[in-house]
Amino acid sequence: MEFNLDVNDLLVGPRPSEQSILTLREGEYEVAFRLPVCSDLSLLDVHSSVDFNSRLLLRTCIASVRKAGNEVGGAEIPAELEGAVVKVMGDADPLGNIEVTCMCPHCNHAWQSSLDIAWFLSKEICGLATRLLREVHILAAAYGWRECDILSLPPSRRLAYINLVQ
Ligand SMILES: [Zn+2]
Repeated sequence: MEFNLDVNDLLVGPRPSEQSILTLREGEYEVAFRLPVCSDLSLLDVHSSVDFNSRLLLRTCIASVRKAGNEVGGAEIPAELEGAVVKVMGDADPLGNIEVTCMCPHCNHAWQSSLDIAWFLSKEICGLATRLLREVHILAAAYGWRECDILSLPPSRRLAYINLVQ
């Protein structure tokens, strides 16, 4: 499936600074927290569940928890507050989780899908690298040229030779 995405839709405004502390007051609780940053991901455990890692990430972002005005030790918050904190995070950083609406052109079935730009970009780069290796292989096998000579050709010239070989 393919879909069009207007880059302007991804430019809705600046993300709050990494040092910004957000606050949520609910009932007798006051939770101060920051938005997640890329370096937080290094703390996660690939062998653990999504749920475990989600809670770990949330705890990492919590600066303080107060209950009835008194500091509560650690970064633990009641489970019912976790969703509220995540919602405030999402509202403060609307591009933190990009969702696109996809629709099947045949049956009009529609669904929401998460757009992970980092994953998408790394997949595109990996695809380009694989294609480039294949081009080097084809031209080296056909003409006996060195890799560095093949890579120094402009892409359009490289493609022209590949079309002559195949
Ligand atoms: Zn369909």
